Amino acid sequence: RQEQFRALRDVEPLTRDGQRITLQMNAGLLVDLPQLEESGAEGIGLFRTELQFMISSSMPKGDEQEAFYRSVVRQAGGRPVTFRTLDIGGDKVVSYFRSQEEENPALGWRAIRLSLDRPGLLRTQLRALLKAASGAELKMMVPMVTEVAELRAVWELMQKEVQHLSKFGHVLPKKLQFGAMLEVPSLMWQLDELMEEVDFVSVGSNDLFQFMMAVDRGNARVSDRFDVLGKPFLRILRDIVRAAARNKTALTLCGEMGGKPLTAMALIGLGFRSLSISPTGIGPVKAMLLGLDADRLHQMLDAALDDVKDTGSVREMLKRFADEEG
Ligand code: PEP
Ligand code: MG
Repeated sequence: RQEQFRALRDVEPLTRDGQRITLQMNAGLLVDLPQLEESGAEGIGLFRTELQFMISSSMPKGDEQEAFYRSVVRQAGGRPVTFRTLDIGGDKVVSYFRSQEEENPALGWRAIRLSLDRPGLLRTQLRALLKAASGAELKMMVPMVTEVAELRAVWELMQKEVQHLSKFGHVLPKKLQFGAMLEVPSLMWQLDELMEEVDFVSVGSNDLFQFMMAVDRGNARVSDRFDVLGKPFLRILRDIVRAAARNKTALTLCGEMGGKPLTAMALIGLGFRSLSISPTGIGPVKAMLLGLDADRLHQMLDAALDDVKDTGSVREMLKRFADEEG
């Protein structure tokens, strides 16, 4: 099977009915980069910048961050990289970062909340990203956004850094793409406002599922209790796809569910056309989609999600569909 997936590396990810699917990979360290070439991923759809902080015994300085991002961009060899600003806190522990004991760290002082409370830290990171992408395109996104105002605050800090750098004669990125991760449920009721603010939205299905279903993603006792292919979660994802279409906003998903053939199939059926997944998922997901009639699946899935009489998971239906398609 490994051999079979490797043979697909250079095959264009087109469904049987001609839908082009973008398959990118998730990464966080330089050791991940060779996987781009090996897997045939089209780029890095999620670069978790907190990894550099997590493996370091002290806070990486601005120039260290810049050098690191520069290496990432260089090794990506022209393929796009979407950098996510620091997502510290919750399940991502950084030892030297002063943090009080929290009773509910997943709901605590983390990610963009922490970054906005430590604007010096965020500005250092934004500056490092801007400098590393000098003359090229910079794609960056913000984790754990709860309200649109947080994005505006990041954007303002970004503008300050842009002005600062241009004042000192630095070459800025030639294009800036600004995005938000959609992983906190409150954004579901601000979808149009959110999409007005950003160039793209990336669904963090790991956290979105955790918060929607109120199950700790790190607690094995409950994490598999509910199905990502149950109707509630699929309807949530369908609403996001519809909002993105309505607002003509680029949409991708970078959680674990994109990396397994059956759940990836459901996502394509819902209308997702871009996924960022673990590199080991690229081959299996591509093998699945090459044989997929996305439109036929879409019709079936849509009808199943509209059916209020049958409350069960659509997992069995999807498995049957997958078997029929071969
Ligand atoms: C997610 O929450 O789905 C996600 C991609 O981010 P992380 O797993 O790093 O929290
Ligand atoms: Mg997350």
